Amino acid sequence: MTDSSVRSISTFDAIRFTPEIRSAYIERFEDGPDVLTLYGKALYLDRSVLESSGKTYIPMTVLATCAFILKSGPRYVEVPEPLWTRKMLHTFLLLVCAHVAGALRFRRTMTSTYCIENEDAGRIARVPEVIPRKLRVAVLRTPLCLFGLLIRRWIFGTAASRETYEAVLGPFWGYVDRRSELVWPLPSACECSKLPSKDPSRVLFLGALTTRKGIFELLAGWDELDIRGSSLNLSIMGGGDLEHLVQDWAKGKPNVKVTISPARAQIHEELRQAGVLVLLSKPERYWREQIGLPLLEGLAHGCRVVTTAQTGIASWLADNGHCVVNDAGNPAEVASALSEASEAGFWSTASLPEINGRAAAAFRMHE
Ligand SMILES: [Zn+2]
Repeated sequence: MTDSSVRSISTFDAIRFTPEIRSAYIERFEDGPDVLTLYGKALYLDRSVLESSGKTYIPMTVLATCAFILKSGPRYVEVPEPLWTRKMLHTFLLLVCAHVAGALRFRRTMTSTYCIENEDAGRIARVPEVIPRKLRVAVLRTPLCLFGLLIRRWIFGTAASRETYEAVLGPFWGYVDRRSELVWPLPSACECSKLPSKDPSRVLFLGALTTRKGIFELLAGWDELDIRGSSLNLSIMGGGDLEHLVQDWAKGKPNVKVTISPARAQIHEELRQAGVLVLLSKPERYWREQIGLPLLEGLAHGCRVVTTAQTGIASWLADNGHCVVNDAGNPAEVASALSEASEAGFWSTASLPEINGRAAAAFRMHE
């Protein structure tokens, strides 16, 4: 970074620090306020998305970000969510610096966070389960209460996430609740989805080719569909540990197409054409699906979604014409859900907001 770029980014009144940046985050921030985003590392990032963004993104370590906050004194500072436990100490340092920077300038810094953690409260601290659940939850209560004092505005992306924070905070939840708001992370309709190219028989899997994204369950469900003589087509887009297994499975299947590491333009084209988007997320060790960005991308393109109850938006999806399967380990249930979603036809994007939920949340945090 040169001195001149430091000077120019110092003019921002609102900053956010995020440990990770992805193409999908950048696309969702695009409709939001003019916030300087400082990020730790890039994940699933298509450089062209970053380069064509109208917002400013700078890679920066946590300590450099702390120094930057103290030096430039932004009025608004958005930090990672406190229950991102691996980053908890970093988040604490950022908040202390934000408040010190404000105090040095005789004003209050508006600190905020966006929360989507929806893991069971007894599992977040990663304490062995032989220890009573009450104690496992209590381990996090004291640090989270401290964050309750340091963060002035809390935006929850899902109802499931509110429940997790409420469970950890226990009797102290009311203090955070009064400073919080629920803003569903719904996408706005993608511009490209207006082109008439949908085919309800096309099913799309988009995401990491890993066990936690339900790849084995999807393949088993698809084999069941083949046995039933289905006329559906499957496109699998992504990359990960299971990509060779998926490619081998797809060999000799004329109704299955696999694309490894697709470009964003290819992804949008496929989303535009698919009638159904499937993502059968399942819990793994200390991980639970929080939202599942491919689900939002499917909604933005009018896809009927088939998923599991793991995502924090499962209740919203079930109430809005999508399919939440009870047992993704049952191939017959997955096959039936895919058939029914295809027969139900496209999903209308008319009920989606003008501004996507993540950008709307950012407006609430930086005003
Ligand atoms: Zn699109």
